[in-house]
Amino acid sequence: MEFRDLKKQYLALQPAIDQAIASTVASGRFIMGEAVQQLETQLSSYVGVRHGLTCASGTDALTLALKTWNIGPGDAVFVPDFTFFASAEAVAAEGATPIFVDVCADTFNISATSLAEAIDRVIKEGKLTPKAIVAVDLFGLPADYLTLRTIADKYGLLILEDAAQGFGGSIGNRRACSFGDIAITSFFPAKPLGCYGDGGALFTNNDGWAEKIKSLRQHGKGTNKYDNVRLGLNSRLDTLQAAILQIKLNAFNKELTQVQAIADQYNKLLSDIEGIHTPHIPDSFQSSWAQYTIRLSDAKQREKLQQYLFLQGIPTMIYYPKAMSQQTAFNLLAPIVKTTMAQRLTTEVLSLPFHPYLSQEEIQAITTAIRKALQ
Ligand SMILES: *Cc1c(COP(=O)(O)O)cnc(C)c1O
Repeated sequence: MEFRDLKKQYLALQPAIDQAIASTVASGRFIMGEAVQQLETQLSSYVGVRHGLTCASGTDALTLALKTWNIGPGDAVFVPDFTFFASAEAVAAEGATPIFVDVCADTFNISATSLAEAIDRVIKEGKLTPKAIVAVDLFGLPADYLTLRTIADKYGLLILEDAAQGFGGSIGNRRACSFGDIAITSFFPAKPLGCYGDGGALFTNNDGWAEKIKSLRQHGKGTNKYDNVRLGLNSRLDTLQAAILQIKLNAFNKELTQVQAIADQYNKLLSDIEGIHTPHIPDSFQSSWAQYTIRLSDAKQREKLQQYLFLQGIPTMIYYPKAMSQQTAFNLLAPIVKTTMAQRLTTEVLSLPFHPYLSQEEIQAITTAIRKALQ
């Protein structure tokens, strides 16, 4: 059994993908070929945002957004303490200071209460200028953007939506990647919409920022490639990856229906097992189900369950074993607010095998094994 079976997905889409690869190779246009522009139009219309701009990875997309806003030394950027490293890494790499904020016990997303407390602290200390919030759609569930927008407006902050895992999620009739002033996603193979290598994209309704992103992703180009008006990056999505993503985007809504059905089934088969919390999806929210992550009552129980499943040939993952503030790379940063829940979650969460092509038999085997392990 695979944790995320990318080969099964390839087999389901093989003729179209093979053909997209072959025609890209035959075109000889490997950088910024036609498929890139086409995909960008398709992505922006899917999300419902004016500009969709691709780049080389989700991490680069975060970097490009921060550079677009001139965020750097002396600036405070608020980041949930429970996320993938890149959410905070990109901030620190620009010379700005990530301020780690606690997360909610039920959604695992950034806590509005903790965020407001952290912003007030930074203002009171007076050393850094609060600039932006990196709101992460963890495991596919959009953050609470309604509340976050109120806080952002109150303090004059920008929202950078890190939807690396969130593409395909929604709140009401609005899709993920439409909530941030700039939103980013990742096409890393294991993300909800993955390509066959690294890739990423940014979304914004702001024309000026979109122009700047286009410049920054191509060495800070001006009127042409050899007129450079600022320092940028070499960060483009390969034509080959764009062509593959066009095929995958066509199949994406069907896959979303499949993952929702699998999540419903997991929920049903696991909900009555004592000591397990199944994922909480608030009303009107829709997850893209980047991960199906359960929470156990303590570290010992998680260890026991993971070990048992491993012996049954069932792979599981711990996303994430360390909070940002516990990472060696950030050990010079004294936390401004307590991130108790983030740290507790690192000891209690466990992600189960999950992908659109998980079979009935596999779901049965996994949930039966979990029941046995915890009896
Ligand atoms: C994967 C991920 C990223 C980085 O995306 P890459 O394409 O791997 O660079 C950023 N933030 C979050 C929350 C992620 O899960």
